[in-house]
Order: sequence, then structure tokens, then C-alpha cells
Amino acid sequence: MTPSRPTRTASPLPEPRDPLRYLTGYPPTVLEQVQRLLASERLGEMLHKRYPDTHDVRSDKALFDYVQNLKAEYLRGAEPLSKVCFDSKLHVVHHALGTHTSVSRVQGAKLKAKREIRVAALFKNVPPEFLRMIVVHELAHLKEKAHDKAFYQLCTYMEPDYHQLEFDLRLYLTHIEWVGKPVWPAS
Ligand SMILES: [Zn+2]
Repeated sequence: MTPSRPTRTASPLPEPRDPLRYLTGYPPTVLEQVQRLLASERLGEMLHKRYPDTHDVRSDKALFDYVQNLKAEYLRGAEPLSKVCFDSKLHVVHHALGTHTSVSRVQGAKLKAKREIRVAALFKNVPPEFLRMIVVHELAHLKEKAHDKAFYQLCTYMEPDYHQLEFDLRLYLTHIEWVGKPVWPAS
């Protein structure tokens, strides 16, 4: 079943992309439901109804504090973070959500690993639940590198509703891909 696509005004993409690529791995019945919502242009409305509010973490400083608070609550023993920021150059595609890097720098005679968390700028205007989900995801990578069972256990320890939130975030990314504009306006 292929729903008719809305006319795009943006410049054509080099190759047609699968609008459901953010939902790879979810069951076909779920994908069919999503396609129906896209075709009837109700996905954004549904998300807005489910998550009416946006968070107020507006700056890199506020984001740093937000991340530190969660880290202090759940991952006290993890390595300290040297930098936390929103990144407008980060595209929410590859690693799904944000990046967590360990940048090695020589400091004096020692090689010191500096931990950074970058969150795609898209997350400035999302519900508090989505921000929490992405931060939990990146924090979990401080302990677990791969997206494996231990990783998701850590995510759900920090946020019991993690899986639902990640799915809904993926729905939102799908919506943006399809409709081309955000559900929650910039404030
Ligand atoms: Zn990840």
C-alpha cells in the first residue's frame, strides 16, 4: 500500500528516501498504521494531542544543567562530561538521535578522554518527554557503547517509558520527513 505523496516544495533530494526509514525494524502492522496516518495527514495532530507541551531548556547552559541533574540522579559514577550542547549541524539520521563522543586530548603528559554530548537542534522545540528520552539515550552510552540489551536496560532504568518515547520520537522524525515542518513551533 503506497499512499499518495504530498507535493514537495523543497528542492528534490538526490535519491528518493524511504519515509519510514526511521521506523526500520518495527512490525509491518505498525508501519501500515503509520502510513495511514501519514496519508491522511494526521500524524502531527496525533503527536500534538499526545504531547501538548514543550520543554523550556533553551540554551546550552540550561541543557548542560539538565543533563548533569539526570546524570547525578542515575549515573553518578559515570565519567564527567566536559561539554553538553545543542548542535544545529547535527542531522538526526545516522545515529538516530544525538552523538556521544569521547574526544581524546593530550593534557600535559596525559591523554585525557573528554566526554561530550551533542543534541540535535531539533530537540530545542519538542515535548519534555522527547528531550528526556534523547538525554537518557546519550547518557546510557557513557556506560554502554552498543545498542544492545544492557544499553536498553539502562535506558529504561532512567526512563521507564523509554521504548514508547523512542517510538514516538521516531514517529515525529517521520512526520518531519514527510510534512517538512515541525509540530511544535519554535518559541
Ligand atoms: Zn545511540
